[in-house]
Amino acid sequence: MTPNDCIFCRIAAGEIPARILARTDSALAFHDLNPQAPHHVLVIPVPHISGAAAVGSETEVWAPLMSLATEVARQLGLDEKGYRLVLNQGQDGGQSGGHLHVHLLGGRRMSWPPG
Ligand code: AMP
Ligand code: ZN
Repeated sequence: MTPNDCIFCRIAAGEIPARILARTDSALAFHDLNPQAPHHVLVIPVPHISGAAAVGSETEVWAPLMSLATEVARQLGLDEKGYRLVLNQGQDGGQSGGHLHVHLLGGRRMSWPPG
């Protein structure tokens, strides 16, 4: 998949509309189109990376992604009651989007184990 075919790359480039919440040089947070909780935000790295398994030794990807996710959670007022960060990798993980993303879910009590 090239950035041209990738919906999340196109969102990062401003070519597809999204409800953007926060942006840094290396990461972007926007509302999920099909929310699974009162707050459902996707946090992506700006460069195209297909998923967690593709990160390998480029560990510098993680810090901006996780810091933006926790920062947005704070801005949404979720710190006190809590929230869940989810990263689906590959078929068994339930990944459908081909660009690495972390789900931030909050505003309701989550169950465990996940489905
Ligand atoms: P995953 O199943 O972990 O790969 O999650 C992909 C997520 O991307 C799903 O929750 C979709 O609802 C969401 N999604 C797909 N297209 C868009 C879009 N154009 N804008 C916002 N969220 C999207
Ligand atoms: Zn992409």
